[in-house]
Amino acid sequence: MSEERSLNFIEEIIDEHLKAGKYQQIVTRFPPEPNGYLHIGHASSICLNFGLTKKYPGYTNLRFDDTNPTTEETEYVESIKNDVKWLGFEWKHELYASDYFDTLYEYAVTLIKKNRAYVDDSSSEEMASMKGTPTEPGKDSVYRNRSIEENLQLFEQMKNGAFADGTKTLRAKIDMAHMNMLMRDPVLYRIKHAHHHRTGDKWCIYPMYDFAHGQSDSIENITHSICTLEFVPHRELYDWFINELEIYPSHQYEFARRNINYTVTSKRKLLQLVNEKHVEGWDDPRMPTVSGLRRRGYTPDSIRDFCERIGIAKRENMIDVSLLEFCIREHLNKIALRRMVVFDPLRVIITNYPNETILLKTENNPEDPNGGTREMKFSNEILIERDDFMENPPKKYFRLSPGNKVRLKSAYIIQCDEVLKDAAGNVTALHCSYITNSKSGEDTSGIKVQGTLHWVNAADAVEVEVREYDRLFKVEDPTDEAGDFKEYLNPDSLKIVKGFAEPAILTDTNADRFQFLRKGYYCFDKESKPGQLVFNRTVTLKDAWAKEQKKG
Ligand code: ATP
Ligand code: MG
Repeated sequence: MSEERSLNFIEEIIDEHLKAGKYQQIVTRFPPEPNGYLHIGHASSICLNFGLTKKYPGYTNLRFDDTNPTTEETEYVESIKNDVKWLGFEWKHELYASDYFDTLYEYAVTLIKKNRAYVDDSSSEEMASMKGTPTEPGKDSVYRNRSIEENLQLFEQMKNGAFADGTKTLRAKIDMAHMNMLMRDPVLYRIKHAHHHRTGDKWCIYPMYDFAHGQSDSIENITHSICTLEFVPHRELYDWFINELEIYPSHQYEFARRNINYTVTSKRKLLQLVNEKHVEGWDDPRMPTVSGLRRRGYTPDSIRDFCERIGIAKRENMIDVSLLEFCIREHLNKIALRRMVVFDPLRVIITNYPNETILLKTENNPEDPNGGTREMKFSNEILIERDDFMENPPKKYFRLSPGNKVRLKSAYIIQCDEVLKDAAGNVTALHCSYITNSKSGEDTSGIKVQGTLHWVNAADAVEVEVREYDRLFKVEDPTDEAGDFKEYLNPDSLKIVKGFAEPAILTDTNADRFQFLRKGYYCFDKESKPGQLVFNRTVTLKDAWAKEQKKG
């Protein structure tokens, strides 16, 4: 599939660079801030960065952008590494922006010596008030003209912990009237007496994003530094630092952030859902996190397929979650074992069937020639889905009703002869008869039926717990609504139901993905244990996406 599609705009650029001999190989990086778990948007950035160096000569680094000591945790670092590997990618080097703190400090000193940076005592409020507006120039700080010697001395004292948080910053000396607001003497370092997850208490000054990111790219000789569109205005500053410091000229390219409807893709917002217990945790199967999707039963292939299909764009747009669902359905159709599970059982007694149990053999997956077969017991008492029966059916009802015939999947054709009810008039069981020569695979009855039902053998059905998930939010874009995004959570995003499964499921513990016939795709949840099986619904069988495509 990837061979067929045309090049995206970043591939076109790289193609040209390689042809022109500008680079022999390309180097990209995936640079997460370890302040949360990765989500589906990150997956798209991962597939892009790692995908490029699979396609072209070169490699990709995993770099943790850990310059903010207060929000970062080792737990996040581990989860990120795990997710990237699970998605099927290998990084060349595992790196941390915090490993460059010494180099970055030297870079800052270089700028001071070139009279390109100064220590400012203004508070953040004062700085903001002097920043100007897009149409009005800002004002120079009174500290802007400190001597190089004074700046060097103050900056060193900042590093040595002589000053309290927020009392001083180091700023680049560019132009307070610059058209690009980000070029109006941006802050390079702030004072923060905080413990860092890797450097401990060594530092009490920390570089700002803009003074760490580009320089880290440069230190690693990144050729193509790919980020999302909000960094377009930062590119000028990115290039300014590279020029002034005369370091390796990495280049920044931007693509549109990927958003999916009916969810949020922002670590900060996802963290709120976790902290305020709207979900069970980062890997709650309703979460758009890589770990949530994994627990939900998504495969790495399906996520890569999705990222490939959405490609990359220069303009932001909202992607329909049904495309993601389409991708997992496509993959699971090929690999999932077929099993029968009845959710709301109705007893069927087959009155003309002998009092014996036979074994039926049936395939595990008709889409997979190597899928093998399984055995199912069949006897004179089985369970079918209550809503596969109607006493007074409308026209064209092809499921079971009095006098009507259906096929039991992989077994026989049965006919409903009698409806049993309790005193209150509720249907309690059905008396049916089976057509003796209608066994699947060796049917000589000549009877055509329209409906095929799933069923389980009553005597050995296994009770299981099934978690049916729905969209996490009721609206397409909860961040675009009035009020707090959490007001739009879907209160029915999780329904727990009971199911009665064919017993093969007990011996399937090595398999983890199933199609419950006529129901959907399911996987074992991590809380599942012998004697207490728990399944997550990955996705329903209904394909809203394909329908949309046909309409269009
Ligand atoms: P968030 O707001 O969720 O924290 P972020 O951009 O701050 O997102 P980072 O950890 O800084 O998260 O992102 C790592 C990389 O992933 C960056 O290159 C970023 O541009 C990219 N990325 C993050 N979110 C998306 C998204 N929704 N679509 C595409 N790429 C994304
Ligand atoms: Mg970020």
